Amino acid sequence: MLKPKSGTATQFDAALGLGSNMGDKAKNIDRAVALLTSDGRVKLVARSRDYRSAPWGIAEQDWFVNACVTVQTDLSARDLLKRCQDVENVMGRERKQKWGPRLIDVDILTYRDQVISEPDLTVPHPLIAERGFVLIPLMEIAPEIVLKGQSLQGLVEAIDARDVVAMENEGWRK
Ligand code: ATP
Ligand code: CA
Ligand code: CA
Repeated sequence: MLKPKSGTATQFDAALGLGSNMGDKAKNIDRAVALLTSDGRVKLVARSRDYRSAPWGIAEQDWFVNACVTVQTDLSARDLLKRCQDVENVMGRERKQKWGPRLIDVDILTYRDQVISEPDLTVPHPLIAERGFVLIPLMEIAPEIVLKGQSLQGLVEAIDARDVVAMENEGWRK
């Protein structure tokens, strides 16, 4: 469960995780964020830096760029999922291999304090705790999130996330 929002932290409805390991990876993330927020129903609250990460799940593929955003939205979780998938489709994502190479991936990490367990939608995303490429950018913009009683900081300390590196050098954006 998420901790109820309180204090001065900027409020958000959902946290999204983005990833790309094909083409101009950083540009793909930028484009996805622009498309997600293009009609005003999804408003950007915060965006993490871009991170370079090693492939997860299937090792024999190119490295990834990952980022997280927090958003305010009046869309339901299901409609937000549809929005994320529409963005993936507009950008030309092809689904070939589970966890395989992708032009863009947009996942719902959290949605308000909702816990959803449906065949096509699980919230919070079930693999956050195992993924440095999610935990580290998410911690940058929403450190107050608590998952199953554990802080993001606590979760990241329990895994090996040395392969997740902020791409602050502009040279990486080539
Ligand atoms: P993973 O979910 O392990 O990160 P993936 O992102 O590569 O894997 P996809 O092929 O993009 O998986 O999506 C497979 C299905 O996951 C989608 O059709 C969608 O219905 C479902 N899904 C379930 N929960 C979520 C969620 N929280 N965010 C996005 N998709 C989800
Ligand atoms: Ca994913
Ligand atoms: Ca996905």
